[in-house]
Amino acid sequence: MAKISKLPGHMCRFYQKGRCLYEEVLNPGYNTDWRCKVLEGLEDEYDKLIRQAEAFKLSAEVVTDLWNRRIAEHRVSSGGCQKDALKGEDTYPLCSNGHDDICLLELPECEGVCKKFKPLNNSSDTE
Ligand code: SF4
Ligand code: SF4
Repeated sequence: MAKISKLPGHMCRFYQKGRCLYEEVLNPGYNTDWRCKVLEGLEDEYDKLIRQAEAFKLSAEVVTDLWNRRIAEHRVSSGGCQKDALKGEDTYPLCSNGHDDICLLELPECEGVCKKFKPLNNSSDTE
């Protein structure tokens, strides 16, 4: 008997570069494993810097300068992105695998049109 293969899911609104965003759209931020680890690390640094800026009443110029240095230091100390494809290269927010604060490489693959499929231009919500 001939095997019936699924239609590709790229016309689905949850489809992003071969991955399925359905669960993330349904429960945004719920699965913390999907978050970009590079961005998470930088958020910690940012929180620290904001506290420092408030405590020492730092100017915007000084904060910007410190922020650029923190990013550079964070990249050196963390070794950058540890995903196989990008080992050592941390390019967020320019990373092509980033989608908001989510790493697409962590999401399940779209295996073709499924019951949750919604066409791209369908404006109704996810129920
Ligand atoms: S591949 Fe890109 S989005 Fe994923 S963790 Fe690395 S830097 Fe973040
Ligand atoms: S077709 Fe199904 S698996 Fe593919 S992106 Fe859409 S909802 Fe996800």
